[in-house]
Amino acid sequence: MKVQLLSYTKGAEELCAAAAQSCYSDRPASDLLKGMKGKRPDRILENIVGMGHHSVIEHATYTFSVEGVSRALTHQLVRHRVASYSQQSQRYVSMDRADYVVPPSIRENEGAEREFRKLMDRIWEVYRVLSETVEVEDARYVLPNASSTNITITMNARELRHFFSLRCCNRAQWEIRMVADEMLRLAKGVSPSIFKDSGPPCVRGKCLEGKMSCGKPRRKELKKV
Ligand SMILES: Cc1cc2nc3c(=O)[nH]c(=O)nc-3n(C[C@H](O)[C@H](O)[C@H](O)COP(=O)(O)OP(=O)(O)OC[C@H]3O[C@@H](n4cnc5c(N)ncnc54)[C@H](O)[C@@H]3O)c2cc1C
Repeated sequence: MKVQLLSYTKGAEELCAAAAQSCYSDRPASDLLKGMKGKRPDRILENIVGMGHHSVIEHATYTFSVEGVSRALTHQLVRHRVASYSQQSQRYVSMDRADYVVPPSIRENEGAEREFRKLMDRIWEVYRVLSETVEVEDARYVLPNASSTNITITMNARELRHFFSLRCCNRAQWEIRMVADEMLRLAKGVSPSIFKDSGPPCVRGKCLEGKMSCGKPRRKELKKV
């Protein structure tokens, strides 16, 4: 699995802070942005986002390339609707090569891994036969959730914070959590004040999972990210 930050809003903190101030000023955001030098955009954002005015951070967007992940992961990912996605096609890209993700729990169990790989080999054998006899778009119906894929994602900072809140949680599935953790690390690297307290609710305070709580707050772990 590989996660890369392809593009992001430069000066996101200054931009969002100027947009926030423009709500309460007789000056437009263009003037306020020029005057942002030497000011503390992090304090402006902390204050305004803390008041629940989250829309101001929607002006910052981030584009990630997520590579070599399973279709099981991307199925969960695309449930996040306030985002843009471009995913590798199983119709236009040759799927002849058996390329799949093996979950760690299966890799660590010799017997399970043997059975898993045996089934994958058989699936791709059938896929290759089918793709020569019927349309590729139909042959792909036999491909598994484990099939490897690439996806490009664009989210704004507000949606990213929401995504991190759900998917950096220990209760999220391991693969999407690994991707979310890496996306958080990359986003925090370029916009530290927007993402400084980002992550599951236990990073900011109390866990919301009730009886389902893992009991292992990620506060310290994600502070280092
Ligand atoms: C641990 C975990 C387990 C899960 N298990 C399942 C499962 O078993 N089955 C399943 O189907 N899903 C499951 N999900 C997916 C989950 O139900 C959501 O679909 C997914 O997390 C996207 O979240 P969202 O809808 O809040 O966010 P997004 O789609 O990212 O939307 C962001 C926010 O925008 C607002 N919004 C977006 N669209 C609408 C709308 N149409 N109407 C009103 N408000 C809107 C909401 O406030 C929403 O929170 C699971 C998620 C997690 C984290």
